[in-house]
Amino acid sequence: MPHYDFFQNKECEYFPCHQNADPETFSCLFCYCPLYALGEHCGGNFIYTENGIKDCSACLRPHKRECYAQITEKLGDVINLVKKE
Ligand code: SF4
Repeated sequence: MPHYDFFQNKECEYFPCHQNADPETFSCLFCYCPLYALGEHCGGNFIYTENGIKDCSACLRPHKRECYAQITEKLGDVINLVKKE
């Protein structure tokens, strides 16, 4: 099993920063999800608030080791968002 796909910072004041998360398996590697900017196309479990803000509170996808490849595979979509035309 590789070591680059999982990281924990149990010293963090917010660890684990999602309710109902298992502190033993919770990964901090993608502390802020790199797919947030994909809006409705990130593939995660988000909702939009009444104010139109994307709320990822219920999504544990970036915090699961087994989802590492799913997250990194979609990074190309993020790169396309910021690519110079
Ligand atoms: S945390 Fe989940 S819902 Fe939010 S951007 Fe990442 S994958 Fe999408």
